[in-house]
Order: sequence, then C-alpha cells, then structure tokens
Amino acid sequence: MRTRTEEALRASEERWKFALEGSGDGVWDYNFQTHKVLSSRRYKEMYGLAEHDNEDVVTQWEKRIHPDDKICVMTDLRTYLDGDASSPFSAEYRMRCSDGSWKWILDRAVLVSRTADGKPLRMIGTHTDITERKLLQMKQLMMVLECSSEAVLLVNKEGFILFANDSAVRLFGYAQNELVGCSVDVLVPLKARPGHGSHLAAFMSNPKPRPMATAQQLFAVRKDGSEFSVEVSLSPIEIDNQVFVITGVLDITERKRLEREMQLAAMVYRAIGEAIMVADADNRIVAVNPSYTRLTGYTEQEAVGQSTKLLKSGRHTKDFYWRMWQSLEKTGHWQGEIWNQRKNGEAYLEWLVINTVYDDNGAVLRRIAMFSDVTDQKRAEQTIWQQANFDPLTGLPNRRMFHDRLEQEIKKAHRSALSLALLFLDLDRFKEINDTLGHAIGDLLLKEVAQRISGCVRDVDTVARLGGDEFTVILSEIDDFGSIARVAQGILRSLAGPFQLDGEILYESASIGITLYPDDAATLEELLKNADQAMYAAKHQGRNCYSYFTSSMQEAAHARMRLIADLRSAMAENQLLVYYQPIVELATGAIHKAEALIRWRHPVRGFIAPSEFIPVAEEVGMIVDIGDWVFREAIRQTASWRLSHDPVFQVSINKSPVQFLREDNSHGGWADYLKALGLPGQVIVIEITEGLLLETSKIVADKLLAFRDAGVQVALDDFGTGYSSLSYLKKFDIDYIKIDQSFISNLAPGSSDMALSEAIIVMAHKLGLKVIAEGVETAEQRDLLIAAGCDYGQGYWFSRPVPAEEFEKLL
Ligand code: C2E
Ligand code: MG
Ligand code: MG
Repeated sequence: MRTRTEEALRASEERWKFALEGSGDGVWDYNFQTHKVLSSRRYKEMYGLAEHDNEDVVTQWEKRIHPDDKICVMTDLRTYLDGDASSPFSAEYRMRCSDGSWKWILDRAVLVSRTADGKPLRMIGTHTDITERKLLQMKQLMMVLECSSEAVLLVNKEGFILFANDSAVRLFGYAQNELVGCSVDVLVPLKARPGHGSHLAAFMSNPKPRPMATAQQLFAVRKDGSEFSVEVSLSPIEIDNQVFVITGVLDITERKRLEREMQLAAMVYRAIGEAIMVADADNRIVAVNPSYTRLTGYTEQEAVGQSTKLLKSGRHTKDFYWRMWQSLEKTGHWQGEIWNQRKNGEAYLEWLVINTVYDDNGAVLRRIAMFSDVTDQKRAEQTIWQQANFDPLTGLPNRRMFHDRLEQEIKKAHRSALSLALLFLDLDRFKEINDTLGHAIGDLLLKEVAQRISGCVRDVDTVARLGGDEFTVILSEIDDFGSIARVAQGILRSLAGPFQLDGEILYESASIGITLYPDDAATLEELLKNADQAMYAAKHQGRNCYSYFTSSMQEAAHARMRLIADLRSAMAENQLLVYYQPIVELATGAIHKAEALIRWRHPVRGFIAPSEFIPVAEEVGMIVDIGDWVFREAIRQTASWRLSHDPVFQVSINKSPVQFLREDNSHGGWADYLKALGLPGQVIVIEITEGLLLETSKIVADKLLAFRDAGVQVALDDFGTGYSSLSYLKKFDIDYIKIDQSFISNLAPGSSDMALSEAIIVMAHKLGLKVIAEGVETAEQRDLLIAAGCDYGQGYWFSRPVPAEEFEKLL
C-alpha cells in the first residue's frame, strides 16, 4: 500500500517535473534540514553540471552566484523566509556555469512546508534563463544612449565609465576604448575633483534623477587639457541589481557666451544714449529703452503694444516710406534721416538705423530701430554750410560755392557737348555810392542788384557774388549764342531802373565781361581770367555795357603783364625821364610855368607813351613810387631854375587819383617835402583829374586842403571830358582849369567848341579860376584863345615837351 502510494506520488512528481522542464526551466527542490537540493536534468544542463552534482548543491549554488549579486539575493531570500511567504519569491541574478561563463536567471520559488515550530522545511523553485532578455535590454539602453545627440556616459557607483556614446567621444576628445573603464575624474579639472567626488557620493546615497548642481558653474576638461563649461544631468538607472548613473554632459560654452553677450546687450540697451525700439513682424512695438522715452516722451508702457507709426510726423511723402520699406524688405536694413514727432507734438529730425532679425525659417522676427535726435546737429551743419557757401548779405552763392558750381557746369557742358557762358559783372559806381551814402545804403543796393540780376536768368543758371560789387553769372546748357547777349542786355536794362533805397533814389550801372566754355577756355581759372579781362574791356569802352572775351584781349593781357614787369625795372635802370612843356602866358608870351611829363625810354621798344603805361601803373599801384620820383625830379629841376633863370618859376605835376588814395604819408606828403627843402608851395601846381573830385572820401578832401594850406595850387586837368560840376570846383578850391585839347583842336570862329571854350573861360573867371588851354597847335587857335580871354596856352605851337636842357633854352 505504502509502495503504491509512494509510486503514485512519485509518478505525479515526475509529471510535474516533466511539465516544468518542458517549459525549459530548471527545477530545484531544497530541504532546509538536510541542506540537500534535488535538481532537474534541465537545471543541470543550464549550468553544465554533471549528474552526481546533485549532492550538497546548496553550497554550490551559493558559490555560483555572481559576487555582485550575492548579497542582494541572500538578503532578499532571508527577508522572504522571515516573512509569511504568502507570495512566491523572485530574484534575477547571475550564475556561473561550469565553463566559467555567466547566465542571467530568474529564480522563482515557493516555500512549500515548514517544521512544527515554523522553521522553513522545503522550498521548490525554477530557474529561467533570461540572459538573452538581459542582453537585449542592455543593447536597447546602449542604443538609446548612442542615439542621443547629447554626450552621455554610463557610470557605475564607483565612478567608472562603463559606456560613452559618440557625442561624448567627440566632446572629450578621447577614443571610446580610452573612456570606457576609466574614472570620470579624468573628465573633471584637477581643482574640481574633490568637489566632484563628494557630489557623486551624495548622489549615490540618494539616487534620484536630477540635474547636477545647475546653479553651480561646472567645468569639464578634454583630453587636450582645455576646459569648458558644462551642464551635467544625472539619472540613476538600476541595471541588474546595480545602480548606475546615466550622466548627460552638455557643452554650454556657446550658451555661456551668448548669455554674457545678452547681458552685455541688455546693459548697452539700457545705458546707450541712442533710442532703441524693437518691433515684431507686425510692426507692434515690443520693447523700448530709457533713451527712447527721453527722446520721444513716450514711456515704455505707452509705447509697447503700439504701432511703429506712433512717432510719424507726417512730414514725409508716401513715396519716402515706400522706399524705406522696399529697402527693409529687400535687405532687412535701412538708415537715413527722418522727421518724427515727439509725444508733445514737436517735430525732430532723427538719424535712424533699422535692422531686421529673422527666425530659423527666414521669416521676420524682429525689427530693431536705433535712432538719435540730430535736429540741433543738422541745424548747426546747415548754418555752417550756409555760411561757408552763401553770401550772407544777398543770399547768393559765394565765391566758394560759385567755384563748385562752375566746376560742375564745366563737367556737365563737357558731357552734353553744350556751351556755357560765364558773365563777370562789376558795378560802375558802387564805391562812390558806398562812400557818399554810407555802407547801409551800399548794402541795400547790393541786395537789390542781386535780386535784379537773378530775375534776368533761368533757374538752371547760377548768380553768385564774389565779394564787393563783383557778381558772376553762369549760363549753362547754351545752344543759342544769341541768348547770352540777351541776358547781358537784360541785366543792364534791369539795373538801369532807379534804385529806391531807404528814401534815396539812385542810379547804378554795370560793366559785364563774357567768356564761353569751351570756345575761349577749358578750365575754371582761365574762364575767370577771361571774364575779368572782358569786364575790364567793357569798363574801357565806357561802362554800362558788356564785352565778349576775345583773343586780342588775351594778347593785350599778356602785353600788359610784360609791361608791368618791364616797368618794375624801369625806375631802377634809369629808363624814366621827365620832360617839360612850357605853359605860356597868352597875353605876354612869357614862360613862368611848365608841365612836367614823364617819359619812359624802353631799352627795346624806345619811347613808350604815358597813356600806355600810366593806367597800368595806376592799376598795380606802381604809380605812387613813379609819381614820387617825378615829383622830386621836377622839384629839384625847378629849384635850380628858380635860382638860375626865374625866381617865380612854377612846375605843374600830374597826380593820379590812385596816388591820392594809395600813398601813405608815413614820411610826409609833398607839401612836407617842399617845406623840408625850404621851398614855398608856389613852386608847384598839382594837376588832378575830374575823376578825383568824384572821389568823395575824406582823404582826398583833406589832402587837397593840405595843399592849399601849404600854398600849393591845384589845376583841374582835361576839363570838359568828365562830369565835373561847378559846385565841385568851388568846394575844392581849384586854381586853374585846363581845357582839354579835344576842344582846342576844333576851335574855329563860331564853332560849338569855340562857344564852349568861351563859356568855360567866362565861368572860370567868375569863380576866380585861371584857364589854361591844352593842345594849342596853331597860331589861329592861340589867337582865338587870346580873343576869348584865356589866360595860358600849352601846346606844340609853343613847344613840345622837351628834356630839361632843351627847356632851359626857352627860359
Ligand atoms: P596831360 O596831363 O593832359 O598832359 C598833356 C598831354 O598832352 C601830354 O601828353 C602832352 O605831350 C600832350 N600835348 C601837349 N601839347 C600837345 C599838342 O599840341 N598836341 C597834342 N596832340 N598833344 C599835346 P603825354 O606827355 O603823352 O601825357 C599824357 C598823359 O599822361 C598826361 O596828360 C597825364 O595825364 C599823364 N602823365 C604824364 N606824365 C605824368 C606823370 O608824371 N604823372 C602822372 N600821374 N601822369 C602823367
Ligand atoms: Mg597834365
Ligand atoms: Mg591834359
């Protein structure tokens, strides 16, 4: 019976074993009292055990558990057995096979019986080989880590690296096999290692996923020794009963740099003097800085959310904004000056720079506008520019601006193959008006003249004032040469009208010189010289007219230059002489007077007439020295004749207006010179021209009066050719008038010149003046003059001007 029961039992156990083994698991059966383990065939197969290994396997089992797993497994088992063991025991751990390899197994067991006093008696369990699954798990983990773009290290709790992905390899510069197996300390800079060790220990004692000391600045070091900022994240992972740390390492060098830049930018943004406005793609303001508020008057709260049109002044055309947007859309950039309006309504000029920030897809993200108020700066610039380029009195371009324009017009004319005309205009009586009526009236006159000239030209032409009473006109793009003369005539006509200035009515005229580009000259300098020469030609033609530049003018100008050069040496080289021409007392034929006339014996050209070189000497101022020389020479001669021949002998000396105005009396005037020589003033008569009397300056009047006070007489030369009025003659205390030879040469009984001469003589006598007739060439003329009561005669009839030695014979 027992046997049958046992057999039945054995049969049922066999079936059960068979069933378990059929599933591929190894089965074991352990008796706590005998310490004997029964194991199935499959069990032995799994570990490569021999049949007899059945004996005492519990020791073998314990021995074969992986040292890393053993404590864990034994602890778990103890806990299971000490508890009520209501549910099965389960553990995963590594077991060594007899060939030394390791297998991962899942050990599931149940306590099937206890002793009477509750001690464990029998336990049955299965081992499932889970090596494959474990490997797969690990592989999957590695794959996940490998794919991470972040550098990842798998570190065990001792701090050794078990795995490093490609990113980590790249980041640290080590090869994969160099990293695996070494301590993470290698990747920590020396100075940070102690801290790092305590971090790791702290983490391991309480492993929870967390970023590692994010607030703390962490550094890592590459193989090449270079350090860099990192952010480290730690995630614990339990693999096979062990805690590992998945360590993510992020290189934040660039981020740090950006952060620093951002900080800097933010600082600049707040501190910068320029206003900054940031707008989004829809042109809504998203940020403004304090300077923006200072400049526009809008606070941040007021501005943010508004359209960027907030500051629009309405001063610009639609077209202006359209172009701005064109540029912004095309290049993302615009800069320029723009009139905007502050909150208080005040318009101001700003220098604005707009830049665009795009997102990763190239769409507009932000527009950043930076601007500063340049109103004052602009105003100052404008004033400076205005002052530098325009004449403040007339508002016309000044010399500088004129030069610029002429330069440009020359270029333009050159390109377009058209001509341009340059007009040089000089007022005829400006100095006189300025001197008699004062500078205030002179200024008004210039202003009015400027307006009248401007009124005669087209908009494209340029009228400029070079200074004083000199104006220029550039007539550009000329295709009809007749138009030049028309403009010149128009200007003369418009100036001919009376000027009503501050209650005064006056008249003015101008002389205009005209030159053409490219016909007369190719450069600015030449054009100016030509126009100037032509203007002088117009003056010589009698003023109030215009004259074209001609090549003969050019030649004359050259000749003049030569003449000036020669004249400079003439005095030093004794080429100058003084001739004397007697002035005969008509009633008696006596000679007590003579006119001193200068002669220039040129070494090459022979005698050069005074009419040729005196005006030039006047123009360049040399007349002062020449005149002084003539004066001294004549005085010396006269003083000697007074002693030798005639004690009342008197010499007439010509004195040009230029001498009156230019000579400086630093070493005394002529009167002083006479006094110094002990000679009376009666030794000389000063011959002046009518023009001088028009010079109303005080200098002239003072000098004439000084002569009178010194007893020096004054003769008015070439009378009848100028504009002298009787009042002038009286005012300046003139002693003689010399009737111009143009009247004398035509003297005939009953002629108009006869009548005129007679009238002059009568009038002069009435005013207490004596009359000298010039250019008496015939006996008839002499007789007619005697009959008319003329006092003195001078002319070839009596004698030509002759050298002193010859003159002596006449005395
Ligand atoms: P002016 O003072 O009217 O001098 C008279 C001019 O008439 C002289 O010319 C003289 O030679 C000329 N003349 C005299 N009698 C006759 C005549 O019967 N027929 C003609 N056809 N001419 C006669 P000249 O010497 O050539 O001088 C010309 C001008 O040059 C002078 O005119 C005077 O204005 C100026 N001049 C001459 N010497 C001097 C000088 O030393 N200083 C200055 N500042 N001017 C001078
Ligand atoms: Mg004279
Ligand atoms: Mg004369």
